[in-house]
Amino acid sequence: MAFDRSFYLNLTESGIAGDAPDADTCVQLLQSPEIELLPLLDAAFQVRRHFHGHEVAVHILNNAQNGHCPEDCHYCAQARTSKADIEPYGLKSDDEVLEEARVAYESGAYRYCMVFAGRGPSKQRLERLARQVRKIKQNYPLQICVSPGLMDDEGTSILKDAGVDRLNHNLNTSERHYPKICTTHTYADRVRTLEAAKRSGLQMCSGIIVGMGEADEDVVDVARTLRSLEASSIPVNFLVPIPGNQLEQPARLSPTYCLRVLCMYRFVNPQAELRAAAGREGHLRSMEVMALYPANSLFLDGYLNTRGGSRERVLQMIKDAGFEIKSSFSVDEMLDQEAQHASFQVDPGDGQGSILKTLEELRPANQASDIATADQSSATAPSDRK
Ligand code: SF4
Repeated sequence: MAFDRSFYLNLTESGIAGDAPDADTCVQLLQSPEIELLPLLDAAFQVRRHFHGHEVAVHILNNAQNGHCPEDCHYCAQARTSKADIEPYGLKSDDEVLEEARVAYESGAYRYCMVFAGRGPSKQRLERLARQVRKIKQNYPLQICVSPGLMDDEGTSILKDAGVDRLNHNLNTSERHYPKICTTHTYADRVRTLEAAKRSGLQMCSGIIVGMGEADEDVVDVARTLRSLEASSIPVNFLVPIPGNQLEQPARLSPTYCLRVLCMYRFVNPQAELRAAAGREGHLRSMEVMALYPANSLFLDGYLNTRGGSRERVLQMIKDAGFEIKSSFSVDEMLDQEAQHASFQVDPGDGQGSILKTLEELRPANQASDIATADQSSATAPSDRK
């Protein structure tokens, strides 16, 4: 195959038409040194611009409950098998969740994502979550995404009725590679959850973690499976090596490889909200801003247990590259707000401190002295763990 101008043009035109490259071409996009990065990024950007313009959807994660998970996902600091030094706590109170939603809204978040450790929620927990979602929706015009673990039709219907817009449940890797990253549930379990979400009318958010020892073919398989499932939102995470996790060392990730992955995901899922998710700062390094050409979505404020770039730096990066924020606020308003309220966040990579968040960062709506009390009242019985 010749990788001349017509090759890149064809990728753009096919993407705009909603067609995906075949699996072999996708692998070549990741591997072939003859496929140059800049024309590839430009081809992906043309598709991104066609469907999403210059907008960047900014998401903020709320780690609504942390740790004590009985599952053994090898990449996760909350897994029972992880020795990572995280700050476990039970389900946050309704007031705490609502206050953090307010802060997220006023920080320009388009979408507020509530994530819960564990295998799947009990009915009692689902009802509590539904109540929290209703309160947020009554107070702030935020899109709500929840990540509650494995679900069936009854559970996804409860969330839909409460006003949840989207359900996140990542495939994380291919079916073939899945047994190497988790032994307590299966890839099929994850697909069943996504299908239940779809049947209940929830938008589907599902993505991958790149860098867990998978082959390029696995990265392509996930992209193509997400297309067949019609995922409307796709987070592409790059493994953050957390000390104490079973999977500490990311495999063969370079900035250019990460960008190729994002471009390939854009071509395979041209209309999806494609997010440069966890690990983009550490793996893309000086090329982080280039992720905005294939991707139209970012996390602000770091990830579940690890820090990301400071809000101000991320907002400034978006502005400097000529993109706009998808929000009720302009990027300038958000930057002004950041300047007024100096954040406690610390950029990773400054050579100081841990990549893990502190308890204050995980629970900004609570005074540290109140947390022990709150945890006592919100702690759940072992049977209530997902
Ligand atoms: S089920 Fe979720 S919280 Fe539990 S170990 Fe897996 S990824 Fe982590």
